[in-house]
Amino acid sequence: MTELEENKKISRLKVAPKIISRSDHIISRMQISDSALKVLYRLKNAKYKAYLVGGAVRDILLGIKPKDFDVVTDAEPEQIRELFRNCRLIGRRFRLAHIQFGKEIIEVSTFRASHHISDSNEGHEREGRIIRDNVYGDIDDDVWRRDFTINALFYNINDFSVVDYVGGIEDLELGQLRLIGDPKKRYVEDPVRMLRAIRFISKFDLNVHPLTENPIIQFSYLLETIPTARLYEEMLKLFLNGFAFKTYISLRKYDLFIYLFPQTEQVLTQNKKGYPHEFIKNALKNTDQRVKHGKSVNPGFLLATILWAPMRIMIEEYSSNVHSDIEATKLAGDAIISKQISSISIPRRFTHMARDIWTLQARLKQTKRKSYRVLMHPRFRAAYDLLLLRAQSGEPLNDLVEYWTKEQLQEPQIGKSKIKTRQKRNNSNRNTKNSKKKDL
Ligand code: ATP
Ligand code: MG
Repeated sequence: MTELEENKKISRLKVAPKIISRSDHIISRMQISDSALKVLYRLKNAKYKAYLVGGAVRDILLGIKPKDFDVVTDAEPEQIRELFRNCRLIGRRFRLAHIQFGKEIIEVSTFRASHHISDSNEGHEREGRIIRDNVYGDIDDDVWRRDFTINALFYNINDFSVVDYVGGIEDLELGQLRLIGDPKKRYVEDPVRMLRAIRFISKFDLNVHPLTENPIIQFSYLLETIPTARLYEEMLKLFLNGFAFKTYISLRKYDLFIYLFPQTEQVLTQNKKGYPHEFIKNALKNTDQRVKHGKSVNPGFLLATILWAPMRIMIEEYSSNVHSDIEATKLAGDAIISKQISSISIPRRFTHMARDIWTLQARLKQTKRKSYRVLMHPRFRAAYDLLLLRAQSGEPLNDLVEYWTKEQLQEPQIGKSKIKTRQKRNNSNRNTKNSKKKDL
């Protein structure tokens, strides 16, 4: 049977779902945000089908507070827009509705059939219809295009039941991550699913089903084909979810880390253990702690730490050719960043921030002069945090750490008074000029 025939067979396969009624599951409307409920109810009242789907259903069933809510419906994008004033349609290939409630966005998508149906002629003939390459369908088409079984559970607002076509409930109970369909095809179809697999196993402490696990190393190279902007978005989700260290270990285990941070991977493989490993462990554990305590983590700082190991080597290489540490650090920073952005595209404000944090490492060495200027630098705090991580990971920097720790306690006064003095001087200059003007 050809691949196309096989795919047609899958799409024709009408599987009866398992319906878990309200009394047999733990999802209550209390756990669903008011905005998501509003969207679900308005669709239902307009006689459309409406389900909560994806991460939110999975998270509530796992006893975790969802971070966002996705809704799926049989209403088409224009019909959704007619129902909500606060609605924006996004995406060209697949149009989605974003419904905005203050800061919260509820993403509403129309049931779609999976890619392979749209690739064949089937999509035209079956109940779905094509609009701008979109094959609309029903819930029993939509379920097959989803990635993992635990992400393909639908909460029905009509009767509060959970609809499970793929054994997602059982996999949640087993703590198992399993791709829907043939894993090899699903990874080839969208290699980012390999990164999503790592994110979910790390975050939820899941086992991977062997058939979902085995092809990853073999297909890891496919990540090279993913647009660098999409990899950047995925990288943030991987490292800012509070489980960065576990995620990093798994990414390396499955040969995926190299496609995100090739320069760091090179240093890590060249040194089986020691400083680079210690440093990245401390940095990512520190990031996880910050996230757990509700503190922000700036992507620029994250970048400065993940790239620190190769950066350190690069600084040494440049040091022999130029005379100042600062110059060597700047040149090394340029080289590291320009190589990095061929893997992941990173917004310029964050690459600038990483560069500033690195350059400050050189300025932090100069304890004899102008410390107030360093203290007043907007990136001082981040640079100090990097210095702490370096010391903690074995660099002989304890004296420097002690100096800047004390300096921060004392210097704000000095810094402020110097700034005040300077301001006074500027003001008096201005006054003198003004009075001269008046005199004229
Ligand atoms: P979280 O939002 O917690 O990161 P999520 O599972 O909700 O996890 P989203 O990226 O919000 O992830 O996607 C919503 C749903 O869309 C997923 O649960 C899954 O059903 C489907 N989905 C997302 N990305 C893919 C993909 N690359 N391939 C197939 N299905 C996907
Ligand atoms: Mg989500």
